[in-house]
Amino acid sequence: MCGTEATFVAKHSPVSTTANTISHHTTQNAATAQNLDYTKVINLDHGDPAMYESYWRKMGKSCAITFAGDERLSYFSHVKKVCWFMEPKLEEEIRRLHNVVGNATVDNHDDYIVVGNGSSQLIQAALYALSSLHSDHHTRPISVVSAAPYYSSYPEMIEFLQSRLYKWEGDAREFEKDGAYIELVTSPNNPDGVLRRSVVLNKGEGSVVHDLAYYWPQYTAITSPANHPLMLFTVSKCTGHAGSRIGWAIVKNKEVAKKMTKFIEISTIGVSKESQLRAAKILGLVSDSCTTSFNPQFQNFFQYTHTLMYQRWQKLRQVVKASHLFTLQKYPIQYCHFARDFTETLPAFAWMMCKGREEDCEKLLRGHKILTRSGTKFGADPKFVRISMLGNEDDFNIFLQRLSTLHHQTVTAYN
Ligand code: PMP
Repeated sequence: MCGTEATFVAKHSPVSTTANTISHHTTQNAATAQNLDYTKVINLDHGDPAMYESYWRKMGKSCAITFAGDERLSYFSHVKKVCWFMEPKLEEEIRRLHNVVGNATVDNHDDYIVVGNGSSQLIQAALYALSSLHSDHHTRPISVVSAAPYYSSYPEMIEFLQSRLYKWEGDAREFEKDGAYIELVTSPNNPDGVLRRSVVLNKGEGSVVHDLAYYWPQYTAITSPANHPLMLFTVSKCTGHAGSRIGWAIVKNKEVAKKMTKFIEISTIGVSKESQLRAAKILGLVSDSCTTSFNPQFQNFFQYTHTLMYQRWQKLRQVVKASHLFTLQKYPIQYCHFARDFTETLPAFAWMMCKGREEDCEKLLRGHKILTRSGTKFGADPKFVRISMLGNEDDFNIFLQRLSTLHHQTVTAYN
């Protein structure tokens, strides 16, 4: 744990006084306004983590790694391990970071870490492993469910190859079939940021995959170390290095870990060594930034990114409140064991609903050149949209500016 230095903005940061913050940023925005292209199409449809760039720019060369031509030629990293293509340094840094943050229980003697090409590949590896190991061959394809609103990629990745092992059955709350199933629990949830638990009632023959991509302190209070049979994480949403394509699974069952490794062997014969070592370096730096002995010029990564998220959420909430056209999901303030304080939930996506007569929120915003993802993609109502909070600063400011003028335009249109 990082101790009191990790205490987040809710208490100490200058941004905690709303009026000051917004007026300060409005002045800043006005200063940069001439650089912003207000006719531009703003794409907030995907969760590309451009927001983290400013932190890593400050860290400069301290995160650089180099490779000589004769290094890391082999497919193999550690032949005695279940996940034989995983770089030991990456495994070490993953375990260290979870211990520093306290968001997952890791134990060398009790679990296996499997690295994948993003957690996207690991979701598929997990489905393959759990469904192929299931004893009841007659119930295949095994049903895969997730509570709506669910991550929009689940149905796509599950149906894409029309597997005979598993099939997408939609909303977990509506699932009533007997027999085997796999439930995907995303916590905090994409799209709505809510901390979740399994919801299927027919627990007997089910397996659960916990997708914990957003269980990091910049997004949510770390309420306790997650300790589930199969948990997935990714650097994409933790540090913002989505382009490195590194995710990892913490797996309690050796057979499941072996099958997942087999899936990755068959599909890509492992994971790039360059990416793994870069991720190890970055994760190591994040852990270092959380410890007091580290060079004070490098700010605690989670404190820095939590502050950025807090500022964006403050601005968005203010614009939405003034517009009277939309509402945002509300969240409880919870005690964060990492920050050792009560912290706000600041999801990577805003889950916004149109109030009143407007039925299709995505269409309304598209009409104003703001691209978002419709609620229908998440098994929810078209009155909802998912908006990325992780994009670059200029796009976010143009989005806010456009949203704030929408009220007048829409009211005029209805009159
Ligand atoms: N799970 C969830 C809930 C996600 O939101 C994402 C990325 N949008 C992923 C998994 C996949 O992440 P990646 O493949 O970049 O690790």
